[in-house]
Amino acid sequence: MNCPYCDYPDSKVIDSRSVNDGIRRRRQCLSCGSRFTTYERLQPASLFVIKKDKRREEFNRNKLLTGIRKACEKRPLPTGTVDKLADDIEAELYHLGKPEVPSLIIGDMVMERLKNLDYIAYIRFASVYREFTDITALKREVDTLVSSEAEVSRPAGQLSLLPAGELAGVAKNRRRSRK
Ligand SMILES: [Zn+2]
Repeated sequence: MNCPYCDYPDSKVIDSRSVNDGIRRRRQCLSCGSRFTTYERLQPASLFVIKKDKRREEFNRNKLLTGIRKACEKRPLPTGTVDKLADDIEAELYHLGKPEVPSLIIGDMVMERLKNLDYIAYIRFASVYREFTDITALKREVDTLVSSEAEVSRPAGQLSLLPAGELAGVAKNRRRSRK
């Protein structure tokens, strides 16, 4: 756990106590001396993923990470984004407190986050995960994104799917073709 103030990786524990379902630790950064609190929680012994064909498989963070990493390949995302995404999803899954989770739920969690992060990565992930069998389904998804991007302002930090000029052109053509 890095210091939230200076990001230094080492801290000492100055107090620890049991709380509800975990341990609360008061820490002091060894670099800047700031104090912060961490909570350690026991994770369920195992979490199983129910696949589409009903097979059960133990949850594997690396597998999740590989899928996200592949989708984000060569995209201009800040270092650590992919790992953080996998961490968030893993934490959320364990937080559900269920022994089994359908793979569909996990896929949706990834898609939801990628959609807010980078459309290209989102489309790449969706094309594998949703198994777009034909180009029409893929095109429909892209069209939905383009039109929602033209109508609603992009989420903060989202990379544009198309250069600004091109996007305006697309929106204009759409309006025209609707008449
Ligand atoms: Zn510090």
